[in-house]
Amino acid sequence: MNKDLVEIVQSARDDCAIKLFTTGMGITKELAAELKRAGLCYVSISLDHWQEEEHDGIRGCRGAFQAALQAIEIFKGTGVHVSVSTVISRRMLRENQVEKFLAFLISLGIDEAWLSETKPTVEAFWNEAAVLTEEERLSLVHLQDKYNQERKITVNYLGHFEGGEHFGCNAGHKMVYIDAFGEVSPCVFTPITFGNVRDKSAQAVFLEMKAHFPSESCCFMNKNYALLKKHYKGQSPLSKEDTLEMMKEVRFSPLSEFSRLYYKG
Ligand code: SF4
Repeated sequence: MNKDLVEIVQSARDDCAIKLFTTGMGITKELAAELKRAGLCYVSISLDHWQEEEHDGIRGCRGAFQAALQAIEIFKGTGVHVSVSTVISRRMLRENQVEKFLAFLISLGIDEAWLSETKPTVEAFWNEAAVLTEEERLSLVHLQDKYNQERKITVNYLGHFEGGEHFGCNAGHKMVYIDAFGEVSPCVFTPITFGNVRDKSAQAVFLEMKAHFPSESCCFMNKNYALLKKHYKGQSPLSKEDTLEMMKEVRFSPLSEFSRLYYKG
């Protein structure tokens, strides 16, 4: 846990609705109360399975499951909106485990399930077998809609609004990710950089990046991980030089439905 977290939340509270994504490790009742007082609105705790050994195995950390459950209980006591962020694997989908997992979250009294899927961001997932098919994405959209109609828990599936039928992928166009070392990337799942905020203003780096990203109807990362693999030299994110080389080979898909209507006007 960043030792300056409370101060960071305090400094942003007047301009932003602040959401903290955390594994839950290191959360105490005192810290949670302090974060709430500092202006924290939402928290999302990582939880990838309802079975302790599975979650600990996925995270590679014994005790991760218990820390997550404890943090959920602590934050529920503060009145902060509590969600769980989960990376859905293809195995979970194939074995019809997603509904079992959602039932577990409902039993915990979670406000929102924030679902994403495995992305080919790191070397281990640079293969077709790891990337969700369009059919699988739509099955999660369907599941989300069903649960939201039942109103037992809010389900927020990232692949829903990022589908071409809605907003599509806005990586680098509206979306920006600045990592802990100051590198500026199009989104958290795209390990490429257009510069570092320690060398240039975030705005200047963002504008340079945006010139390369017109926005498109499907996930930039799912489509371009083979190019990432081609330009990878053992360093993540790719250097700016390698990123620019890679971008020369990127071909963007048509705009999403939203962008098509929005930019037409
Ligand atoms: S590349 Fe685009 S669609 Fe894929 S995760 Fe990033 S923002 Fe979302």
